[in-house]
Amino acid sequence: MTARRNTWQKEAVRSALGREDGFVSAQSLHSSLRDAGSAVGLATVYRALADLEETGEADALRQDGESLYRACTPGKHHHHLICRSCGKTVEITADEVEDWARAVAARNGFTQPEHVVDVFGLCAECTARRAG
Ligand SMILES: [Zn+2]
Ligand SMILES: [Zn+2]
Ligand SMILES: [Zn+2]
Repeated sequence: MTARRNTWQKEAVRSALGREDGFVSAQSLHSSLRDAGSAVGLATVYRALADLEETGEADALRQDGESLYRACTPGKHHHHLICRSCGKTVEITADEVEDWARAVAARNGFTQPEHVVDVFGLCAECTARRAG
């Protein structure tokens, strides 16, 4: 990776994103950085998030014309459980899905299969909140 002048700012954005439970917008990440006393400009936050997305360290979701980001573990294939109410995200591995994807590709003569499988639902806290 090439060294950049704004490395510490990107680092600050990366760790702020890692502290979030799920998807956040650049604006809300920017305000939590500012609340924490970090002098990172909004434009820098946008740029850092785009960089992190490019390197696989963040996932992006476009919603109502706005980009939402969450921290993601790069390099190791995995899936996500996403709460559709609060955005909480859990990283999961799913051997059944891997086996199925490989098998269904092979059965149809496809090689080098790739897939993206995220499961949306209500997390335990949101389910309890609704029940109560
Ligand atoms: Zn992830
Ligand atoms: Zn939730
Ligand atoms: Zn998979």
